[in-house]
Amino acid sequence: MTKTATMPAGVRLFNLLLQGGGTEDQKRLYWERYADQTEKQLGKPLWAMDAEEFEEYKILEENQSYGTEDGGNCKLCRNRGYIVRRDGQYTRYASCSCMEQRKQSREVQNSGYAEMITSRTFENFTITEPWQKQALQTAKAWTRQTQFPFLFLGGRSGAGKTHLAIAAFYNLIQRGVRGKFISWREQSRELKMRMTEAEVYDTKIRELKFVPLLLVDDLLWTNGGGLSEEDFKLAKEIIDVRQANGLRTIFTANWTIKDLIELSEVIGGRIYEGCGSSTNFVLTFGGSNQNYRARKQPTLLEIAGIESPF
Ligand SMILES: [Zn+2]
Repeated sequence: MTKTATMPAGVRLFNLLLQGGGTEDQKRLYWERYADQTEKQLGKPLWAMDAEEFEEYKILEENQSYGTEDGGNCKLCRNRGYIVRRDGQYTRYASCSCMEQRKQSREVQNSGYAEMITSRTFENFTITEPWQKQALQTAKAWTRQTQFPFLFLGGRSGAGKTHLAIAAFYNLIQRGVRGKFISWREQSRELKMRMTEAEVYDTKIRELKFVPLLLVDDLLWTNGGGLSEEDFKLAKEIIDVRQANGLRTIFTANWTIKDLIELSEVIGGRIYEGCGSSTNFVLTFGGSNQNYRARKQPTLLEIAGIESPF
């Protein structure tokens, strides 16, 4: 038996056509029986392609192959993580936009607070009162717009405040926004201690000022004592920069926006402005806290029952 005889019929036919042989019937037979999906898409059989068309064929084929990147399903790159394209005479490989999102999701998974974040979504927010439905819609709407950078969830009641703040945060993270969340209690204590060490302080505060998405839990929290000048200075420094740069920030607080404005007109006013107005992205839970004696409520980390990763 010759080697040719052991070849599958399709390969023999392909070789024949490639060498310029074959009848019209054989050409038709090839197209109907052996042409693959990529050839069909390009509308030309492989054996008839010139070098440039063959390059396009290979690119299309590669772009249609499936990869093994984890952390989400991407229709653009089919989880390969990259996209191939022809650029003049060059074939270029570009990282797919989903890769940033995958990186995020890995960071969340490795952060130690993955469960706390991923378990509080818009979908599983419990609605028992009409105002909660409104609150959910507002938080969702905030994630879908870019005009107003701030979302403020304030008030004495804990009912749903933390859940919605995390859900909004997680929603944006899943869409590839780089985010960080901090407990104001812990972060402000740490930063206030560092205020005299310019270099350390600057590095630490820079991230809070410029990270694309920041969740500040328990803004200006107090254990019943008063807030110091340093507390206000610190909050103002971060909020000013974020507001001026339109950087997305989610705040939870035991204060309502009204309380905050009374506490500090500058800080309260800046947040109010960043949220649009009270009818936009300010949410009030369980009324005002006029006496400035915030009840102790658990922080996000305490709820999750984990050590602070910061
Ligand atoms: Zn992709």
